[in-house]
Amino acid sequence: MPQPGVDTIAAIATAQGCGGVGVVRISGPGINYLAQAILGKLPVPRHATLTDFKDEADLVIDQGIVLFFPGPHSYTGEDVLELQGHGGAAVLHMLLQRCLSLGARLAEPGEFTRRAYLNDKIDLAQAESVADLIEATTTEAARSAVRSLQGEFSAAINQMVAELIRLRMLVEAMLDFPEEDIDIVDSTHRDSLLHNIHSHLQQTLESARQGSLLREGANVALVGRPNVGKSSLLNRLAGEEVALVSAIAGTTRDVIRQAIQIRGVPLHIMDTAGLRVSQDEVENMGMARTHQMVQRADLILLLLDASTGCSAEDLDIIASFPKDIPHLLVYNKADLWQENSAETNGIYISAKSGLGIEALRGEILKLIGWHNQEGGTFIARERHLIALKLANHHLDRAVIQLSHPELFAEELRLTQQALGSITGKFTADDLLGEIFSRFCIGK
Ligand code: GDP
Repeated sequence: MPQPGVDTIAAIATAQGCGGVGVVRISGPGINYLAQAILGKLPVPRHATLTDFKDEADLVIDQGIVLFFPGPHSYTGEDVLELQGHGGAAVLHMLLQRCLSLGARLAEPGEFTRRAYLNDKIDLAQAESVADLIEATTTEAARSAVRSLQGEFSAAINQMVAELIRLRMLVEAMLDFPEEDIDIVDSTHRDSLLHNIHSHLQQTLESARQGSLLREGANVALVGRPNVGKSSLLNRLAGEEVALVSAIAGTTRDVIRQAIQIRGVPLHIMDTAGLRVSQDEVENMGMARTHQMVQRADLILLLLDASTGCSAEDLDIIASFPKDIPHLLVYNKADLWQENSAETNGIYISAKSGLGIEALRGEILKLIGWHNQEGGTFIARERHLIALKLANHHLDRAVIQLSHPELFAEELRLTQQALGSITGKFTADDLLGEIFSRFCIGK
């Protein structure tokens, strides 16, 4: 139920611009008053009612559908009213202004979802997945965000927390007895619980890594000497013309970023100035940027000309790559080359004909760490990965402290705390502010 002092918030919940339908959403204790003023009465709960939306002079602003969800059975847990009118900027603005003049306040970004979280309708991981679902750029990312929203990620966390609580209770009970009196049954039970938590944590961490890849995407740098076909490959992967293709060496002078997806995984491909020694100042600036960009990549694709193979200059380029970033040698223009390849540590393609492109896509996914998990991935954020790694760290330390029950118990407590920060059981207010401020208004 609404907490004392909570105000009524309103916002346009649909995207800016023209659309068939536009929604103004209102939540809070003032719903009855606003409904009486705008609609003449409080609508029947959870019924679609066609009605006029009126201004203070009783003139009709718009005609549309109104939905009333009395709290606590609503998105926010408070009374919620949704005015579904026509999706035009002026009409929605008038409707919103009408709500504000009746005492509602303009909602902050994510404030509806924040209230849903504060009223225990959803936990923090689910609240974050609302924003992730809205921002998802691929089908796969959207599906995994829905899985998180439906609570699959939270359930995995809650299961581990429940196991930890059982283990902690057992350990606390064992603390009261000297080492020699500890029942062998208890210590076996303790070890098996510990083992279960450990394996569940590994599974969840792996799923979360995949989910994070779906959310953030991977940065792939496309590097190679001028004219090897970088722009052509980018176009081939993107499926549209984005970069200027020309037969004159050195055309691609700046870094071009292109968002593409391979089997649902978002990739940010950075096509770069060709790497070569040049007298051209502009081209040299482009190459400096190429080197900077390579440092930020998750994968480097070095494009080579299949007909000339790997030259001394290419070997220099390879030697300049950061050692901790994986790279793949891609031999292009394989259509021009009839011989069977002598080079084995690379992949042969033709950006022009499409030869080898599917194999290249598969190899890229493998190298960025994606393994298709047949529906088992839930969307995850960097914050979740950090918390899971912290939990893992404390669990590892707990194992080391097995013979020191007090220290063991303390590490278990810290493991639980790290996991609890994911669902919001132990989350600082400033972090909440940070999370919800990144939402769009009206959500
Ligand atoms: P970049 O300078 O590395 O970006 O190279 P471009 O993509 O501009 O390509 C340079 C030239 O090579 C163009 O004339 C392309 O049409 C040609 N090219 C690119 N890929 C292939 C390929 O797979 N086969 C053949 N035969 N020509 C290609």
